[in-house]
Amino acid sequence: MTVPLLTLNNGVQLPTIGLGVFQTPPDETTDAVEAALRAGYRHIDTAAAYGNEQQVGEGIRRSGVPRDEVLIETKVWISDYGYDATLHAFEKSAGKLGVDTIDLFILHQALPSRFDLTIEAYKALETLFAEGKVRAIGVSNFMPEHLEKLLAETTVVPAVNQIELHPYFQQKELQAANAAHGILTQAWSPIGGITHYRDSDKSALEDPALLAIAETHGKSAAQVMLRWGIQEGRSVIPKSTKATRIAENFDVFDFELTPDQLAAIDDLDTGTRGGPEPEFITLDNFGKPIPEAGE
Ligand code: NDP
Repeated sequence: MTVPLLTLNNGVQLPTIGLGVFQTPPDETTDAVEAALRAGYRHIDTAAAYGNEQQVGEGIRRSGVPRDEVLIETKVWISDYGYDATLHAFEKSAGKLGVDTIDLFILHQALPSRFDLTIEAYKALETLFAEGKVRAIGVSNFMPEHLEKLLAETTVVPAVNQIELHPYFQQKELQAANAAHGILTQAWSPIGGITHYRDSDKSALEDPALLAIAETHGKSAAQVMLRWGIQEGRSVIPKSTKATRIAENFDVFDFELTPDQLAAIDDLDTGTRGGPEPEFITLDNFGKPIPEAGE
């Protein structure tokens, strides 16, 4: 199965579905990445803050899939924001991944209380892009006001904005803001995984409406959520450490949700975020240091 592609605003092509590796322990990451590439995935989403970039690189090399057929996305953590620090963050991530070029390099968060540092970090991404060291640049967890401030002071429109997005939290205004600027919405926790570690929250995987839709197609709730994201034009990056689920999550190209089913899923939005509030990200509460490559 050749994975369908989305075209970013600079012409780079991004697979509609990729493997996420947040909370994938380093000693399970190589196997997960290799399993994904064998199943047909060609996009891996990692981050400096996940501590497993080295194992992502190993998994890609071990799979035997040529480097230029795999889109590697990684993220700069806030402790590395600032022009020179972010240029160096590229060296750290590329060194751990074992690559010369990063395909999609994005800012992991806005730093609302230090937006000056956020801008400097993004300007470093623009330099890396101009030098051809990264093929596309973008952001994550930016709210509409963060996008406006960024666009006012920089030149290259982000290719993606990676945001929390699953049936229980859909951020429709933010999706519209992304679209208005030509920024692709990339959905993190696309099967609602963010609720898995918040015990009080219900899991979208057990949602009766999603299970009923899934039954009509002989699919799982996870597959329905991923199909919903893909049919609505988003990039989705589900995470699993299990080869069977990695394959299951990729097996979403042989059925189609009806307009009524898409609308029913659109109606499941609770407006309640599972992850951290972007406005409250600060260096004091989230600013852990990122090790050098080889440390
Ligand atoms: P997901 O929505 O991908 O859900 C992952 C959870 O669902 C895991 O507990 C996984 O368990 C389980 N799971 C996976 N597939 C299935 C299945 N078919 N059936 C049942 N359970 C399943 O959540 P994530 O929060 O991991 O988000 C995905 C990716 O998005 C991350 O890995 C990361 O790349 C990115 N992300 C980005 C963030 C950001 O700030 N930019 C924040 C959070 C995530 P198991 O592994 O045991 O299968």
